[in-house]
Amino acid sequence: EAKNSGKNRFKFFTESLHKQVIGEIQLEQDMQRALKNDEFELYFQPKTCVKDGRIVGAEALVRWNDPQKGLVPPNDFIPAAEKTGLMVPLGDWVLKTAIEQQVAWKEQGLADLHISVNLSPVQLIDTLFDRKLQTLINQSGINPSQLDIEMTESQFMENTEQNLNSLAAMREQGITISLDDFGTGYSSLAYLKKFPIDTLKIDKTFIDDYATESGAIFIETIVKIAHTLDLHVVAEGIEQEAQLNYIAQTGCETYQGYYCSAPLPVAEFEAFLKNHPST
Ligand code: C2E
Ligand code: MG
Ligand code: MG
Ligand code: MG
Repeated sequence: EAKNSGKNRFKFFTESLHKQVIGEIQLEQDMQRALKNDEFELYFQPKTCVKDGRIVGAEALVRWNDPQKGLVPPNDFIPAAEKTGLMVPLGDWVLKTAIEQQVAWKEQGLADLHISVNLSPVQLIDTLFDRKLQTLINQSGINPSQLDIEMTESQFMENTEQNLNSLAAMREQGITISLDDFGTGYSSLAYLKKFPIDTLKIDKTFIDDYATESGAIFIETIVKIAHTLDLHVVAEGIEQEAQLNYIAQTGCETYQGYYCSAPLPVAEFEAFLKNHPST
C-alpha cells in the first residue's frame, strides 16, 4: 500500500515535471516565433514631475501580442526568456526599439524624453552587450544622458563585480541607472553608496501602505536615504491623488502610476503627450 502510493506519487511527479518541461519548450518555441513575426510591442508609461506635473520621461514596458493568447504581460514570459536564452535577443529588441522611439519623438518635435529600459542581468552576461549598446547609441545619435537603465534591487545585488563595472561604464558615458522595486531587496547602505546608480524607485507595495504609520515611515526613510546619497527618487504605482500629495510632502521628485497614466501603446502615448506638457 505504502509502496504503491509512493509509486503513484512518483508517477504524478514525473508527469507534472514532464508537463512543465513541455510547457517551457513550447513557450520557448512560441517566443522564437514571436520575435521573428514581430509580436512583441513596447508600451510606454509616463514619468511625471511631482511638483509641476510635467512629463519628464517614459518607461518602456514590453508586451507580447500572441495570436492565440492575446496580450501577454511581461511577468508571464520574461522569467522563461531568462531561462531559455531568449532574453538576449528580446532584450536587444527592447533596447533598440525604445531608443528608436525616443529619437522619432524628438525628430517629430513631440518630446525629448528620458527613456527608461528594464534590463535583465542576463543581458549583462552577454559579452557582446557593451558593443551592441555602443552601436545603437552611435547609429541612433541619441544623447546617452536621455537613456535610463532600470534593474531591480534584487537583480542588482546578485550581480558580479564585472556586471557592476559594465553598469558603471554606461553611467560614465551619461546613461543613468535606476534601482527598480527598491525596498523589496536587501541592499545595505554600504552597497547603495558603492553602487553606480542615480535613482531609487520606491516599490508600489510601500506606496500602497502610505496611510499606515509604518508605511509612511518606510517611504520617508527611503527618500531621506536617497537624498543623503544624492540620488533621485521615483515613486511607483501612484493611483490616488492622496498618495501623490503624500509623496510630494516627502520631497520625492518623480512618480509613475495609473493616477497619471497606465502604460500605453505608442499611438495612445503620443496622443497623451500632445495633451500634457513635457520638459
Ligand atoms: P517594473 O519595471 O517595476 O514596472 C512596473 C509595473 O507596474 C508595470 O507592470 C506597470 O504596468 C505596473 N504599474 C505602473 N503603474 C501602476 C499602478 O499605478 N498600479 C498598478 N497596479 N500597476 C502599475 P508590467 O508592465 O506588467 O511589467 C512588470 C514587470 O516586468 C516590470 O516591473 C519589469 O520588471 C518587467 N519588464 C517589463 N518590461 C520589461 C523588459 O523590456 N525587459 C525586462 N527585463 N523586464 C521587463
Ligand atoms: Mg521598471
Ligand atoms: Mg518597479
Ligand atoms: Mg517590478
